[in-house]
Amino acid sequence: MVNASMDELAAESASLPLVDHHVHSCLVEAPSLAQFELSISESEVALGPGQSRMDSQAGFALAALCGTQLTGVPVPPQDYLRLRAGWAEPELQRVLLRGAGVSDWLIDTGHGADRLVGLTEFGRRSGGRVHEVARLEAMAEVLLASGVSPHDFPDALRQDVQSRAAAVVGFKSIAAYRSGFAIDWALPSDAEVSAAVAALDSAGRARLIDPVVIRFAVHTALRTLLPLQLHVGIGDRDVDMLATNPLHLRRLLAEAEALCAPVVLLHCSPYEREAGYLCQNHARVYMDVGLSTNLMGASGVSALERAMELCPFPRLLYSSDAWGLAELHFLGAALWRRQFTALVTRWVHEGLWSIPDAVRVARMVASGNATRLYRLTAEGS
Ligand SMILES: [Zn+2]
Repeated sequence: MVNASMDELAAESASLPLVDHHVHSCLVEAPSLAQFELSISESEVALGPGQSRMDSQAGFALAALCGTQLTGVPVPPQDYLRLRAGWAEPELQRVLLRGAGVSDWLIDTGHGADRLVGLTEFGRRSGGRVHEVARLEAMAEVLLASGVSPHDFPDALRQDVQSRAAAVVGFKSIAAYRSGFAIDWALPSDAEVSAAVAALDSAGRARLIDPVVIRFAVHTALRTLLPLQLHVGIGDRDVDMLATNPLHLRRLLAEAEALCAPVVLLHCSPYEREAGYLCQNHARVYMDVGLSTNLMGASGVSALERAMELCPFPRLLYSSDAWGLAELHFLGAALWRRQFTALVTRWVHEGLWSIPDAVRVARMVASGNATRLYRLTAEGS
């Protein structure tokens, strides 16, 4: 009888619709071998002669699960790229995106958009609803490139954020990559922001790293009361991992709490415990373990378990953080379903979780929490 119920739990986790609350679109063109290999890691360099990035947790999980989705059986990692080459890219994307079982995709449009299909086309290929998340640093850089004067910049950014707020479901900041989190998070005055903009040379306007301008953008977005996503922890070589410990965000989170503005900590590896603690201690802080789900493959269950130590279950979200390869959109979903099921099955067997509670939490993390947080509607946005 218990086994029958465990089967129901596994079937539920395998089929329930997901909201992928942090993701990017898929590629316009089929990737080269080198692009494919780099896309399954956070690196920008090849491993070297005779070495393949398919020989990793991400590569093994991808070949097993995407191979099964495409052919009905797992594919050896060394054969996967040959298999993939036999598919037209749009058709491969359709099979993998639809196979992910995602009802809503919350797409960050701020990175590499010229190489990715547009949101309407992504919706068509995936069969899901599409919602946009606007990236603050990209918005500020567009404004700075337009030649806005230092004096006019604060008002211009406020107006820009306000008008985008009507069309997006949230904002995202990559402060982690640019200023790091170990900065003064107080709201700067307009005079301070103007002085910081005046001090930027053309490189500083093109790639914003100034902490005063970045925290001004973050505070401006918080005041829309839309969820503010913050990249936390693991990323490519641009990121100073030491400076992305979310414990540096205490001041910002306290100010967001005073405004009643929600903050979402993305990825969080290797700081899942710190992020879970912040979710537990603040009124409106959320987290996910996206990205490590894909990168860690069979080991990713440990990241989810670390998050679930302290994070209240209504604050945990699902994301794939896929960019480009449709394999990653599929893999994030397929791995999350397996990882979640493996964890809660253990806790049910230990007698501390009931099956109905396990199903209830699965639904919360899969879609319920994100639907509530981002106020998603059936019509999409
Ligand atoms: Zn991302």
